Amino acid sequence: MKARLRSLLETLMLTPGLSGHEDRVRRLIARELADLPLKLRTDKLGNLIATLEGDEAAPSVMLFAHIDQLGFIVRKIETNGLVRIERLGGIPEKALPAQAVLFCVGEGKDVHGVIANKSHHATPAEEKYKVTPYADLFIDVGAQDADGVRALGIEIGTPVVYDPRVIHLNENRLIGTSVDDRAGCAVVMEVARQLARSDARPTVHFVFAVLEEFNLRGAMVAAQAIKPDIAIQLDLALNSDTPDMAHRGEVELGAGPAMALYSFHGRGTLNGTIPHPALPRLFDETAKAEDINLQRTAHTGALTDSSYVQLVGEGVACIDLCFPCRYTHTALEMCDLRDLEGLTRLLVAGIRRIDSKFSLDRDLYT
Ligand SMILES: [Zn+2]
Repeated sequence: MKARLRSLLETLMLTPGLSGHEDRVRRLIARELADLPLKLRTDKLGNLIATLEGDEAAPSVMLFAHIDQLGFIVRKIETNGLVRIERLGGIPEKALPAQAVLFCVGEGKDVHGVIANKSHHATPAEEKYKVTPYADLFIDVGAQDADGVRALGIEIGTPVVYDPRVIHLNENRLIGTSVDDRAGCAVVMEVARQLARSDARPTVHFVFAVLEEFNLRGAMVAAQAIKPDIAIQLDLALNSDTPDMAHRGEVELGAGPAMALYSFHGRGTLNGTIPHPALPRLFDETAKAEDINLQRTAHTGALTDSSYVQLVGEGVACIDLCFPCRYTHTALEMCDLRDLEGLTRLLVAGIRRIDSKFSLDRDLYT
């Protein structure tokens, strides 16, 4: 299973898909799922919904991960051929200069570039520890002037992402672009493959959702169409096993999947997810039975699209399940394949436990 997850994840990470421009990623996933007994459809936003029919008496499940990634949009092409960008998503400005990027002008025609970093020899002492706002950065694609840039197919509005890359550090750990949330997508795909082989299962809608990094609401549209009883969202959990993150919690990379008991984000978003109590109980019991170390996280400052999915229709029982991740939203995010494997096992066994007796009645909980 680890080898399959590794190769799926690598292919997904090397396929660019800025928010709102996810079509290449969606087509790749649809191709990979083609041999499974799933009903596939794509909605107008670009969400891919793959349905596996199961026991109709059991609550239905939506298992989802987002296929989009953060990046930039071309804002202005200077007459000297340098390109200015607008940000799309939670861009860490501290980690941008000297990064390689890719302008997505069309499959086979994409253009490489570099985010300029002022030459070190010319950097005065007072600038050395200053972060440059993205609006002051520019990208060099090697063109002589604006016409040269436009001849490459670059225009205002062209999507730009970190140059897709995967580096295997050892047999378990890798770094690269958009581990967030292609690792979640790889797990959803592997869970679909394994559940398709099992008889005892509820109906499961595997959703590969768009626009998470942009507005968190792509998955909500899929949920409005599906009307699931339960929704399980897969994305990263912030690690807390490096010195800079130690105070945040107890999540260790490589120590197993994690479950989020609380998330909240203020500053205009004012949303978060507190899981339906049936779901932490389900996954705690499953983890114990399957001998999986299930870590826990509770945090403010970050949220996922489950926050919006939970509010659909008469309410959806939601939970965020996660893989630990380091260096989030940079061009080199790190994950550990053992966590993805544990997350897959947890989901397959946990979803199989959702039968006709599985209750979401709130009166059963104190
Ligand atoms: Zn994410």
